[in-house]
Amino acid sequence: MELADASVVVIGGGFGGLSTACYLADRGADVRVVEKNEQLGGRASRLYAEGFRFDMGPSWYLMPDVFERFFGHFDRDPGEFYDLERLDPHYRIFFKDSEAQGASGSRATPGDGDRVDVPADRERSKKLFESYEEGAGEALEAYLDEAEYTYDVGMEHFVYEDRSRVRDFLDPSLAKYGRGIQLLGTMQDHVEEYFDHPKLQQIMQYTLVFLGGSPHNTPALYNLMSHVDFNMGVYYPEGGLGGVVDAFVELGEDLGVTYGTDEPVTAIKGRLGGFKVETEGDHYLPDLVVSDADYAHTEQELLPPEKRGHSEKYWASKTYAPSAFLVYWGVEGEVEELAHHTLVLPTDWDPHFERIFDDPAWPEDPAYYLCVPSETDDEVAPEGHSNLFILVPVAPGLEDDPETRQWFRDLVVEDIAEHTGVELDDRIVFEEVFTVSEFADRYNSYRGTALGMAHTLDQTALFRPPHRSKEVDGLYFTGSYTTPGIGVPMCVISGQVTADAVIEDLE
Ligand SMILES: Cc1cc2nc3c(=O)[nH]c(=O)nc-3n(C[C@H](O)[C@H](O)[C@H](O)COP(=O)(O)OP(=O)(O)OC[C@H]3O[C@@H](n4cnc5c(N)ncnc54)[C@H](O)[C@@H]3O)c2cc1C
Repeated sequence: MELADASVVVIGGGFGGLSTACYLADRGADVRVVEKNEQLGGRASRLYAEGFRFDMGPSWYLMPDVFERFFGHFDRDPGEFYDLERLDPHYRIFFKDSEAQGASGSRATPGDGDRVDVPADRERSKKLFESYEEGAGEALEAYLDEAEYTYDVGMEHFVYEDRSRVRDFLDPSLAKYGRGIQLLGTMQDHVEEYFDHPKLQQIMQYTLVFLGGSPHNTPALYNLMSHVDFNMGVYYPEGGLGGVVDAFVELGEDLGVTYGTDEPVTAIKGRLGGFKVETEGDHYLPDLVVSDADYAHTEQELLPPEKRGHSEKYWASKTYAPSAFLVYWGVEGEVEELAHHTLVLPTDWDPHFERIFDDPAWPEDPAYYLCVPSETDDEVAPEGHSNLFILVPVAPGLEDDPETRQWFRDLVVEDIAEHTGVELDDRIVFEEVFTVSEFADRYNSYRGTALGMAHTLDQTALFRPPHRSKEVDGLYFTGSYTTPGIGVPMCVISGQVTADAVIEDLE
């Protein structure tokens, strides 16, 4: 079968699905994206309420090179669809403890902690590091050089060039590329080689939460995230991350992709050249199927038992990335103590990570992230108001009954006031909580994980579930469960990798 004559149904309109759809339509396939929810974007959905517009999931636009490469493939440029603003500072951190304070330029906060702005250029970052620890400015330089090398080699030879099979790792040229890259060891070990100060270690490690891991279970390879953060920069796209979803959809439309929303898929039957994809009340008969819906949901709930590539035991045995406790708030007035991106961190954050990965429970002294897009974008809140959300990573599968939600919501409101000085309670004009049960219900996510499978060493590269179904010819997977993994840029790349697999199989 020629791809140009083939019809394809893509299940799920997250970034992985939208990306795959563009690549396949560009090769002439007749592609339809079928999405369960009322809008496209998947985890990058938008919530509109009382004049506020919230990005419900991703809010950090990282790795602009990935988006340039994506649009460039179709001879387009992201700038045709949205403008980018580089944020400075990249983010602010409130360290909850005043202990080991010392950054010049930092100042005491209401909680008597320590507040720092991580700036958008390397020289100022070096000064900041040096103020915490003698020699840390130079150590940062060395760390970032290594991170850049890892990023360049990793992206070219491991990420874009999919190596998801054992034989892909037997390529002799890999030894050459892999030299100098920290593949083994944990991020904690790696960071300790460069920095002693616990707060500097945290600055180099907070990005691991983007990968759904902790410093103790994420391989050192992911030091490349510091290149992404410090060297490449943190951006805000016009229209927020939802604006980027619109751009992908518009590009897809130009390429001939069609989209259906409010169309949950209930079953996948058949095989290459003769699928039946059942939706509530209707069905499609494509030649090929790509699922961007969570892998576990697709296999366990959409395929008959004999067509599943993995057992229930397999899914139960995996390490999942955290779920999240999110509250979207519309607030009267300013929250000027906060930057566009703000992190609030206990100096010892291990107990929080333990409550995510080792001993699941709601954290009593949480590390969390606050996002205030109204600092940058006038369109996300009515005049005189701020748009704010909190994201606390929590263990997937936690009980989230109404009493627990209320208790935890009150705990974080108090924690924000204590450690950042922002009093919210009398100013909230809109509030919506989104947590474990909502992730499970809205996205069919396994145990309500926000991000999918964590990037532990045994769940990276060839150890992630494959793009090609093991059991059904013509069925493919994309999105965060597959390689390269979690995060918007990674899912955009997974779309390319999945499309490449389809093209290779049909050629
Ligand atoms: C709170 C939060 C914050 C994040 N922050 C960032 C960030 O700042 N930067 C960043 O880069 N990444 C961030 N991420 C990660 C990033 O958003 C995800 O990794 C990425 O968007 C996932 O894309 P995906 O292709 O895997 O599909 P998903 O976004 O998971 O979409 C899958 C789609 O499939 C649909 N679906 C499920 N079942 C069915 C069915 N039966 N029939 C039809 N459709 C179905 C779902 O409704 C969903 O729309 C964040 C994620 C979350 C949740």
